[in-house]
Amino acid sequence: MRLVLIGAPGSGKGTQGERLVAETGAQHIATGDLLRAEQQAGSKLGREVGGYLNSGSLVPDEVLFELVLPLVRSPAGYILDGFPRSVAQAERFAELTGPDTAPDRVLYLQVAKSELVARLLRRAGEQGRPDDTEAVIRHRLQVFDEQTSPLIDYYRQRDLLAVVDGGQQPDAVYRGLLGTLGLR
Ligand code: AMP
Repeated sequence: MRLVLIGAPGSGKGTQGERLVAETGAQHIATGDLLRAEQQAGSKLGREVGGYLNSGSLVPDEVLFELVLPLVRSPAGYILDGFPRSVAQAERFAELTGPDTAPDRVLYLQVAKSELVARLLRRAGEQGRPDDTEAVIRHRLQVFDEQTSPLIDYYRQRDLLAVVDGGQQPDAVYRGLLGTLGLR
């Protein structure tokens, strides 16, 4: 199975992505996690992207394609969490990979903005991510609205989109996802 999860920061993509991986055996490709791992390892790539991560702006497309393309071709399929994050990335992804690697479904986890901010501030207390401060959270939500949310229509026009209510408790969201995918 090849799935794309779209959702604003704090919408639960990571949590739900991990559960879907356990259910489907597909590979979880969480681009934010991959980039943070590079940053923490102090690799050349990690040093290049640190400023973007800390400020909550999007990392240049070339970096993402370098990270993601070798992974998506796995026969196990994928759960893409955090990529694509713009229509330009989606278009280039489709061009570079072709129909055999295209997503089967795209799931949009819809959550009200007030709930997103509350969740991210809570996570800031728990995990101490440098991009979970209030100012950076606001910027990341703006980046989602401006650069990522046009993907919702992009995939709707291609008949791939399903919208799931991500504002509920994690178990209820997961049941919604499984129902949408016809897995339960
Ligand atoms: P996330 O963990 O998904 O919230 O991502 C954390 C940060 O990683 C984002 O704020 C961006 O700086 C960067 N990032 C993750 N995925 C992408 C992507 N597809 N394109 C550009 N930047 C990304």
